[in-house]
Amino acid sequence: MTTIATQLQTVRARIAAACLAAGRDPQAVRLLAVSKTFGPDAVAEAYAAGQTAFGENYIQEAVEKMAALSHLPLEWHCIGPIQSNKTRLVAQNFAWAHTVDRLKIAQRLSEQRPPELPPLQVCIQVNVDGGPTKSGVAPNEALGLAREVAALPRLCLRGLMCIPEPAPDFEAARAVFMRAKALFDQVNEAGLQLDTLSMGMTADLEAAVHAGSTLVRVGTAIFGGRSYAKA
Ligand SMILES: *Cc1c(COP(=O)(O)O)cnc(C)c1O
Repeated sequence: MTTIATQLQTVRARIAAACLAAGRDPQAVRLLAVSKTFGPDAVAEAYAAGQTAFGENYIQEAVEKMAALSHLPLEWHCIGPIQSNKTRLVAQNFAWAHTVDRLKIAQRLSEQRPPELPPLQVCIQVNVDGGPTKSGVAPNEALGLAREVAALPRLCLRGLMCIPEPAPDFEAARAVFMRAKALFDQVNEAGLQLDTLSMGMTADLEAAVHAGSTLVRVGTAIFGGRSYAKA
């Protein structure tokens, strides 16, 4: 097996073990392989090992990779910040966008989604810990934004996403993820039907799964360390 195949297997085993420890069905957590900074060959290797969903942060880099891999049935997720001047590329090329945090961006994505494609699947990014990155809507504004996004015709609101600051230990990480889970439950209780809670990365996926994540976004543990420093 290739290194990537072996590392994918290790990550899948980590997810399964975390589900078991939390009393959850392992099928309830999807793995998104975060391939930013890695080339088409690495993605193709992961695909050969059974991985179909890939996350990318940098729109231009992602679009080039998609073109190189258009012969494969891959599902691409945008997990990086979306500026207004990039919404068209996102709407035209991705299946999912996890980082919607403003109505204006959501409206542009909806307007620019090509009619021949299915609706763009979206998550609202929530700044759950008030972290200094400032990406994400404030928790007390999440429900309002969710209602507005859910009403847009060419978007399908699937859930919430968060990227908390690194925590010192499992319990601290879990406590922050539990706040995202509580918000997720609150939005669902308000009548929106969310099925996706996108949280957990290489360092904290166990804590995220324990708190109720339904989709973990893992890069380093699958592809190795990234050679240039980008978020
Ligand atoms: C890079 C990135 C990841 C993956 O991080 P790793 O620590 O390499 O697993 C997940 N989510 C987002 C939003 C990222 O930018």
